Formats: sequence, structure tokens, C-alpha cells
Amino acid sequence: MTTTQEKKVSGSVVITVERCKGCGFCVEFCPTEALKLSEQYNAKGYHPPVLVSQELCNGCDMCGLLCPDFAIYGFRIKKDKIKE
Ligand code: SF4
Ligand code: SF4
Repeated sequence: MTTTQEKKVSGSVVITVERCKGCGFCVEFCPTEALKLSEQYNAKGYHPPVLVSQELCNGCDMCGLLCPDFAIYGFRIKKDKIKE
């Protein structure tokens, strides 16, 4: 065996802030606790989610599946190991 080509899978989210109704489903059901509700308000007066930490998100898209307003979705990012 020659190499240890490690792949790290991480993820991120896209949030359409103005669609959010601040229900908190995405925050509550994120399996890695990667989200929290922002202290900021959107135009409708709700607190949209934000990532607590990019590192915590694995891109599973549970948030996207549960959001009743299609205001968030998750996606995976494949990172090949970068040269040191
Ligand atoms: S994609 Fe998955 S891990 Fe990332 S914020 Fe959404 S539910 Fe959490
Ligand atoms: S589930 Fe959707 S509507 Fe509810 S807080 Fe999250 S992004 Fe906003």
C-alpha cells in the first residue's frame, strides 16, 4: 500500500434568510448541533439560523429536509487532503 489518501467530508449550509420564520426546527434537529438562531432579525422579524461553526456541519441536509419554508439546505464538501 502506497498512500494514505485521506478524504475529509465536511459540509455547509445555504440559508435564505428572508424565507425563515424562526421556527427553530433546523436548530433543534441538527444532529451535530451546528446551528443556532441568530440574534439578528430578518425583514419579517424572525431570527434566522446561523452556523455555530463550519467545522460542526457535515452537510447531511437534515435541516433542509425539515425546514417547512425551504429556507435552508445543507451540502457536502469533499476535501482531498491538501499537501502539507
Ligand atoms: S447540513 Fe446537517 S450538520 Fe449541517 S447544519 Fe444542516 S442538519 Fe446540521
Ligand atoms: S427550519 Fe427553516 S424556517 Fe425554521 S428556523 Fe430553520 S431555516 Fe428558519
